[in-house]
Amino acid sequence: MESAALLEAARGIGSRLTAWRRDFHMHPECGMEEHRTAAIVAGHLRALGYEVREGVGGTGVIGLLKGGKSGPVVALRADMDALPIQDAKIVPYASTVPGKMHACGHDGHTAILMGAAVLLAERPSEVAGQVKLLFQPAEEGPGGARPMIEDGALDNPKPQACFSLHLWSDIDTGRAAIRPGPHMAASDTVRLTITGVGGHGASPHTGVDAIAVAGQVICALQNIVSRESDPLDNVVLTLGTIQGGFRSNVIAPEVNMTGTVRTLSASVRDSMEGRIRRVFEGACRMLRAEPRMEYHYGYPVTANDPAMAAFLAGCAAAVLGAGNVDTSPRAVMGGEDFAYIAELVPSAYLRLGASNASKGITVQAHNPGFDIDEDALPLGAAILAYAALRFLREGS
Ligand SMILES: [Zn+2]
Ligand SMILES: [Zn+2]
Repeated sequence: MESAALLEAARGIGSRLTAWRRDFHMHPECGMEEHRTAAIVAGHLRALGYEVREGVGGTGVIGLLKGGKSGPVVALRADMDALPIQDAKIVPYASTVPGKMHACGHDGHTAILMGAAVLLAERPSEVAGQVKLLFQPAEEGPGGARPMIEDGALDNPKPQACFSLHLWSDIDTGRAAIRPGPHMAASDTVRLTITGVGGHGASPHTGVDAIAVAGQVICALQNIVSRESDPLDNVVLTLGTIQGGFRSNVIAPEVNMTGTVRTLSASVRDSMEGRIRRVFEGACRMLRAEPRMEYHYGYPVTANDPAMAAFLAGCAAAVLGAGNVDTSPRAVMGGEDFAYIAELVPSAYLRLGASNASKGITVQAHNPGFDIDEDALPLGAAILAYAALRFLREGS
């Protein structure tokens, strides 16, 4: 069976996958700084015979493999960037860069797609069309998928499908999860400034206390989710920062707050800016303070095309075994800029298990102790390579 042969081949290059991943892990690069990582990827793809384009939308790399037969075009995507987190692990492959770390597994994603590149290049006669590999920068911010698209990543040739995956710390190695439709949230940012009037802390009536107003604003904003939103809609409003005041006996003239807004549908997303503005401005004016609000729209909802999700679930089941793929997991309120690709090309995004309690690998992503079970790397490479080969064959 083709999927079994691919898995065997992927396991055969497992030590290379681990070596690539550990090298990236030791040399993490944050968004739009992925020069070293991108150069390694580009060199690897060139050596395999891919047509390579570098510097796409910043530090992105595209590899194009033209198969032995003509047919459709399928894209596979991985992200390459690290996070500004200090690695706390005591392992030989710990980050060598102070304050930077692959704490989301994108080192593994890059290694997985490099492995899929090997598996595909070794089988030119089975590639019934073209495979486009997208190695994107800056998923953690400021976003790399959109600049790559604006730089033509989805043109010449345009893919008819795109598949991607994320290593997942809530799922055991050997298992995967994928759901049709919305599965990761739109991620928008709000910045709130409350301007009052400063004064002596003993004479509150001479000022307008921005901290007291902030307290009312925070409470009032909670009503948007708890009282205004349909309980069956998914929405998060988190205020993550608050700054204001100088000392204990001074009325604070200004408070600044920032927050994140997460939603899973376009209509709820569209409603949030106006709702927050109405409540924020109303609460400020009620208490004589001046409101100023900025709203920034970030990554949209990441939605799996239902047919592509079913297809990728089938590919994952062929590699991992039937029963190891959950096809109705809950959506998550994290954001993902694969959303921009999925808006333009029928796409599917798989969560691939990389947790292994017996090895002590259970720490969640974005944590200083995060690690992945490297046994997941060949599984990911086999699933992506199999999805590409099968899509080309069945789509042609
Ligand atoms: Zn992340
Ligand atoms: Zn990530």
